[in-house]
Amino acid sequence: MLNFKLSELIRSDTAVQHNINNMPDINSLDCMLELIVNCLQPIREKLGKPMIITSGYRNSQVNKLVGGASNSQHTKGQAVDFVVNGMTPAQVVEFIQNSKIEYDQLINEYNQWTHISYNKGKNKMLAFKVN
Ligand SMILES: [Zn+2]
Repeated sequence: MLNFKLSELIRSDTAVQHNINNMPDINSLDCMLELIVNCLQPIREKLGKPMIITSGYRNSQVNKLVGGASNSQHTKGQAVDFVVNGMTPAQVVEFIQNSKIEYDQLINEYNQWTHISYNKGKNKMLAFKVN
């Protein structure tokens, strides 16, 4: 059963601070649902630990303010950043690589959080680390 809330993927402190409406368009919503169903929910269930989304959908304005790449998958509803209580990003990446979960990109970002994306029909299964 899905227990992700859309609000978990839309919430943005930057958007609130700048009074920006970070509501996704219908195409992004479609991608977000694919990401939840095929990626985030299976991860949450296999982990059995709290998984906290720190950044999900970002419209182009919000994305620019947080310094995201202009072609970021966050702007398409295809990516989230998250942390897991009691696990380092390196452990999270390893866990997901060892699961049968499909993803596009899986990134340990600065040993601070994990970025994961899902691109229906075009998943590259690419895992790496950025410092
Ligand atoms: Zn990210």
